[in-house]
Amino acid sequence: KVHTTTHRDSFNCTVVCGLTMADKRKVGLLGGGQLGRMLMEAANRLNIQVNVLDTESSPAKQVASHDGHIAGSFKDAAAVKKLAQASDVVTVEIEHVDTQMLEEVSSAVTVEPSWRTLRTIKDKFAQKQHLKEHGVDVAESVDLEGKGVEGLKEVGRRFGYPYMLKSKTEAYDGRGNFVVKSEEQVDAAFEALGERPLYAERWADFRLELAVMVVKTKDGVLTFPTVETVHEDSICKLTYAPPRGVDAETGKRAQELARKAIGAFEGKGVFGVEMFLLKDGSLLVNEIAPRPHNSGHYTIEACPISQYEAHLRAILDLPLPEAGLRLREPAIMLNILGGKTPDSHIQVANKALELPNASTHLYGKGDARPGRKMGHITVTAPSLAAAEREIQPLIDLVDELKG
Ligand code: ATP
Ligand code: MG
Ligand code: MG
Repeated sequence: KVHTTTHRDSFNCTVVCGLTMADKRKVGLLGGGQLGRMLMEAANRLNIQVNVLDTESSPAKQVASHDGHIAGSFKDAAAVKKLAQASDVVTVEIEHVDTQMLEEVSSAVTVEPSWRTLRTIKDKFAQKQHLKEHGVDVAESVDLEGKGVEGLKEVGRRFGYPYMLKSKTEAYDGRGNFVVKSEEQVDAAFEALGERPLYAERWADFRLELAVMVVKTKDGVLTFPTVETVHEDSICKLTYAPPRGVDAETGKRAQELARKAIGAFEGKGVFGVEMFLLKDGSLLVNEIAPRPHNSGHYTIEACPISQYEAHLRAILDLPLPEAGLRLREPAIMLNILGGKTPDSHIQVANKALELPNASTHLYGKGDARPGRKMGHITVTAPSLAAAEREIQPLIDLVDELKG
């Protein structure tokens, strides 16, 4: 077999010649945002071809050039079918996808995690019910679909104020949540979210928030370390690995709870588990993501195997030693959101370049709307205190440029 120099043929050629590919199977990815982009970066290092279904210049497509990408929407059934036909294993970087079509194609192609898992998780209320049925502690919740303004008032009488009103579907970065602080706010809350399928959650008076990335492989359930997440306006701002002021026993309990929560779902791959650490020390699961997650970005620099590589290894049944998921060095991740001017995020990234232990990630997105995730920075250091000292000027700049 003659070697050719085109990128496309090099894939076929490495298969035929048995050269250095980790795997010859093609991965189909629904969604090409920043999570997809970082998944591609990991895939590129292993010569794994990932076919992305999303718009033409999406962040993930920018980092791998081949003819397997599909232009279209991950919500479009015909496009999902086309992707499935071009791939051996189909996975997602977002849960708001067409699970009907994924169910249909699952007889012909492997879908990881299972379409059933995606269908349950994409509806946050169904997800909560599922977790409860499997003995996982979650905040008490009430279905409000079709209950109108009166339903919201009734929840207020039952839960007291504040409580959290949430859209069951299409929710991310707090877009879909409304903190209802008093009965006077019920009309405004309904005004904001009334068009969407709603449910309410009892307020979790937490001390802080924790998260654990979990990996389901063919052999079992593995966990990355417990991290602390700090949200501002319902958007993740920072993660601390390890968490600040949380004892090792609590960190372990969080890992066990995350393991139990993900054990309740079918399929392989990484999952993000967000939790509340309440003031009495107990833990509640907030929500689950069936994919790589913002709270796991730190793993790129801080762990031997990143969440992205772990996801690929899990869905392709490649070796995944649990020791590879350990924290090598304390790390802090800071999200770069769109700020008050169109170049605010660039200013933050430029300042990060001046720091010796900061790794800067920009996502190749177009316009920076205030609050849009444009990139992130991870600082690792021998101690969390040293990482905190190094990253503080960047946090100050982010606060100054906030939109
Ligand atoms: P993501 O981008 O993580 O998917 P989301 O839009 O799905 O976010 P949630 O995770 O439901 O939103 O909530 C966002 C944040 O709002 C939480 O991280 C937490 O800070 C706060 N929050 C959510 N639910 C509650 C609750 N029941 N009580 C108190 N605070 C809550
Ligand atoms: Mg969510
Ligand atoms: Mg969340």
